[in-house]
Amino acid sequence: VIPIGGADMPVVISLLNSLSGVAAAMAGFIISNSALIIGGALVGAAGFILTVQMGEAMNRTIANVLFSGFGAVTAGPAAMSDKPVKSATPEDVAIALAYAENVIVVPGYGLAVAQAQHAVRELATLLEDRNVNVDYAIHPVAGRMPGHMNVLLAEADVPYDQLLDLDQSNPRFGQTDVVLLIGANDVVNPSARDDDASPIYGMPILEVDHAQTVVVIKRSLSPGFAGIDNPLFYMDGTMMLFADGKVAVESVISAMGQI
Ligand code: NDP
Repeated sequence: VIPIGGADMPVVISLLNSLSGVAAAMAGFIISNSALIIGGALVGAAGFILTVQMGEAMNRTIANVLFSGFGAVTAGPAAMSDKPVKSATPEDVAIALAYAENVIVVPGYGLAVAQAQHAVRELATLLEDRNVNVDYAIHPVAGRMPGHMNVLLAEADVPYDQLLDLDQSNPRFGQTDVVLLIGANDVVNPSARDDDASPIYGMPILEVDHAQTVVVIKRSLSPGFAGIDNPLFYMDGTMMLFADGKVAVESVISAMGQI
């Protein structure tokens, strides 16, 4: 597993989960325990289906995920670019959102860390009251487990029909005024599309850089799980709001009250 890095890891974790089921079923044969055989077979089969689906979502065959890393030089932590970024205040973000027509929220692992889902829902409701159209774009491997973002947003009662998957959201970004990224990084990294030397090259991404403005909420310029820098942060249409996800969204909500 060691040479398999970056964004392929969720597929490997899912395969290992599946193999744990197979191992349990084998143990069931050895000790003649039908419950263990049936339970293990279910875990093995469900895990395998999930692995195949995640591989498809990541644009990788299982063999490619498992073996393409062998012999490759493991990339060290990304050197942060010294290019300037555009830093924004909660007031700047509130103005951009309040005067937008279409907003897409992109949640990532940082949303889970900050537990910002309820604040995000509250912000979306405020925007909807101002006739702003709000949707959520969910990447299949956002967060740290399959369905992580769906679970968090469901917890905050976000309506299911506002959740867009990768194929539904990408054609919409071109007509989106503001994309609000909360703790998402690798799943929106344009290097996966543009830089064939990148360790995540080929992974499908949410193409948020096609939107007019991208607001990124995170605490610093630190990389995400794949450990690589993200050119999105240095683009002209990107504003960075450096803060904890929940604190940042709450500050935007209070700034919105004054507009
Ligand atoms: P990333 O891991 O790429 O980035 C998360 C970002 O969240 C970080 O850059 C971090 O920046 C920010 N963050 C952390 N804490 C907070 C906070 N309290 N408030 C605001 N921001 C915060 O997340 P993505 O969801 O974009 O991508 C998921 C990655 O995890 C992919 O590489 C995927 O392959 C991998 N993965 C996914 C699994 C799955 O099944 N979904 C399983 C295992 C791995 P900062 O520190 O600057 O705040």
